[in-house]
Amino acid sequence: MSHQIAVLAGDGIGPEVMTHAVEIMKLSLQEESSSFSFEEGKVGGAAIDQCGEPLPKETLRLCEESQAILFGSVGGPKWENLPSEKQPERGALLPLRKHFELFANLRPVILYPELVASCPLNHHITKKGIDLLIIRELTGGIYFGKPRGREGKGEEERAFDTMSYTRREIERIALMALEASSSRRKKLTSIDKANVLSSMVFWRQVVNETVERYNQVNQSTSEKIALEHMYVDNASMQLILCPSRFDVLLCGNMFGDILSDEASVLGGSLGMMCSASLSAVCNKESDGSTRFGMYEPAGGSAPDIEGKGIANPIAQILSSALLLRYSFRKEDASLRIENAVRSALRDGARTKDIAQKGEKTVNTFEMAQEIQKNIRDDRIRA
Ligand code: NAD
Repeated sequence: MSHQIAVLAGDGIGPEVMTHAVEIMKLSLQEESSSFSFEEGKVGGAAIDQCGEPLPKETLRLCEESQAILFGSVGGPKWENLPSEKQPERGALLPLRKHFELFANLRPVILYPELVASCPLNHHITKKGIDLLIIRELTGGIYFGKPRGREGKGEEERAFDTMSYTRREIERIALMALEASSSRRKKLTSIDKANVLSSMVFWRQVVNETVERYNQVNQSTSEKIALEHMYVDNASMQLILCPSRFDVLLCGNMFGDILSDEASVLGGSLGMMCSASLSAVCNKESDGSTRFGMYEPAGGSAPDIEGKGIANPIAQILSSALLLRYSFRKEDASLRIENAVRSALRDGARTKDIAQKGEKTVNTFEMAQEIQKNIRDDRIRA
């Protein structure tokens, strides 16, 4: 069987880290029977410069013909003053999310033991470990609710947005969180503001019903998912006070946006944070268990370090591991990449963003080489 991956490197450090992520993916897939092709497309500022728009038709077509998108990052000072719909992030990322109905954003947050000193939290907190997964609803809620706008004049002039969720939207993201919980520690925390917002009272009710149905089907106690509810204000405190208490967090769009950015500092650097955005559409030729998805680092194009060769490639590399897991069910290849990253950190490889004062650093290329070497060594041992 042959699979196609659209590779959209974008701007800034995007192309610098993407080239290594693709090499590493190819290496990790060498023993797979199915063949993979990697097709590059222009996106963001690079696409504006070449084609006049951030998401050219050819790029969209390439994505439609593929089963997954590996995305770098877009934007930078050069395009900052364009009208907002023409700007790289708004003009490329949002249309891609909408076009492919990327409704579920998955953001793993792991603090590797070797990077504890890079985490701003006290050692008494980090010693319990941080390994959580934030699942954010990405296409609904207050960011898309209607009506929205401005009206009136003078003292009565007002602006408004609408926070709204349908049963279908809540059920499908809750199911995604349940599936993810089932292969983890089976503890799900649903985040809401049910003490104030009617939409969140409904959110809590539908999450309860979905979890109850799921647990009825999965009768054995070991498969049951334990559900708790937490108000978003408390969750934002608990993430700092006791992140080890969380396994999977289920959030609506806005709360997930805020909490996932808060959580991104827990891993020590943005350069370590990967993400997956999964589509409502299952991939053709699959048994229905693999989804179209877009995979990207949590950080942006980092113009402050562009061209210096010091960007941490791990976020992009770990995003490619998520791609193999969620869009192709290539668990072995995905684990091969994740283990190689762990080994590189264990052996002391540190890019500048995750190095302590006085610690020896490696550049982007050297970090990627170290990870590649670990994949090769792993194969020899096997
Ligand atoms: P940023 O994430 O690009 O950078 C924030 C800080 O984190 C910088 O100091 C940067 O050097 C550092 N950083 C980020 N990734 C790193 C990595 N892999 N290795 C080492 N250090 C890393 O955020 P910003 O500076 O606010 O935004 C820069 C541009 O990126 C803007 O144009 C913004 O619109 C765009 N942006 C794009 C995306 C996206 O493509 N998904 C996301 C966020 C921001």
